[in-house]
Amino acid sequence: MLASNIQRDQQGRLCFAGQRIEKLAQEYGTPLYLMDEDRIRLNCRMYLNAFRESFGENALPLYASKAASFLQMYRIMAEEGMGVDTVSQGEIFTALRAGFPTEKITFHGDGKTDEDIRFAVENRVGCIVVDNETELGCLEAEAEKQGITQKVLLRITPGIDPHTYEAVNTGKIDVKFGVPIADDQALHFVEKAISMHALDVEGLHCHVGSMVFDEMVFEDTVDVMVAFMKELYNSFNFVTRKLNLGGGYGVRYRENDKVIDIPARIQTLAEHMKKRVAEAGLTMPMVLMEPGRSIVADAGMTVYTVSTVKHLKNFKNYVIVDGGMADNPRYCLYRSAYTVLPGKVAEEGREEIFDLVGRCCESGDILQPGVALPADISRGDLVAVCTTGAYNYSMASNYNRLGRPPVVMLEQGKSRLAVRRETPDDLCALDM
Ligand SMILES: *Cc1c(COP(=O)(O)O)cnc(C)c1O
Repeated sequence: MLASNIQRDQQGRLCFAGQRIEKLAQEYGTPLYLMDEDRIRLNCRMYLNAFRESFGENALPLYASKAASFLQMYRIMAEEGMGVDTVSQGEIFTALRAGFPTEKITFHGDGKTDEDIRFAVENRVGCIVVDNETELGCLEAEAEKQGITQKVLLRITPGIDPHTYEAVNTGKIDVKFGVPIADDQALHFVEKAISMHALDVEGLHCHVGSMVFDEMVFEDTVDVMVAFMKELYNSFNFVTRKLNLGGGYGVRYRENDKVIDIPARIQTLAEHMKKRVAEAGLTMPMVLMEPGRSIVADAGMTVYTVSTVKHLKNFKNYVIVDGGMADNPRYCLYRSAYTVLPGKVAEEGREEIFDLVGRCCESGDILQPGVALPADISRGDLVAVCTTGAYNYSMASNYNRLGRPPVVMLEQGKSRLAVRRETPDDLCALDM
């Protein structure tokens, strides 16, 4: 199986986190997002331990909450001692309402509005990652107005190609995020930031992309960033106290995807960084990283009920389910690969190839093309899409006026709602 929390019982029925999906589908209905809470906590502890061991006691992983954002998720992160990253007022608000400690919230984004900045400063988020010089000016004015010193990191574009797909590539020189080191642009950005009285520039931030499998990407990023830290020290006597290396470790969506040993990677990265920092004659900054996908992706599974099976003779077979691009737009957006599993195994193992498609009125509403499913699959059967914990619920829409599915947490053999299903009333709630 793709992950240790996916199993089949003796009758061949699909189980997730030790619970039968058929039973969960009966209780909560479909489409249904399942989240393995035990796995989320394990993933957090994996990062926390690896960080402490490799980078020391003060290092901190931040959960990039855009991967999956709702109250119970921030509570889990608070309990585990993680920091969180937010990218909007909505995410900050949700974290605060969940009682998440303010000082461990970081606020990101390349398009923060005046209102966003006011909200973040007013609520005293621990750190704001400043994307550009325009934002720097607005933030300085707001912090001054509110009479506080705002801690900030400056987002730098190191010019590293993460060798991943274009839509999630954020570190190359010409992306829309941050300020490039090239042509001294970042040097001037830092100079301006450290001259501002209401801002405390604690250090630098970078994030080169998502779904990174290549070992060298983070090492190369460290090389560029440490060289830049050295330049800042030489030019302005500026000491980089914090360095945030972003998120991005890849996860396995299919069995032939590589397994990444994250603690081992972090250890190698830490050794590499300590060496580079020593060579540069600098002192090690506090290291932060902000994984999203690798915390929650393998903790998720989406369960659907088959509505129709179509055999277009000599062309194609379709399995149409009761969800689709509204609850998971990732194939439509990025051609993302997924593993699809039937609720029960095929009789005598007879399978056929189907396109798994959704119910939205779009030909492009495809969850995954070319998947093997039981040849006799029919209306009422269950189908599961694996590894949907990241960027599924958080990217869901109400397209076709579909209510978003509930999120059900699975913990120690029990289940409970984290987000309830949207009702027709919810769908009309904002209409005047
Ligand atoms: C999206 C994002 C992350 C998280 O990336 P993952 O691939 O989910 O680990 C971290 N940092 C920033 C700035 C991001 O935009």
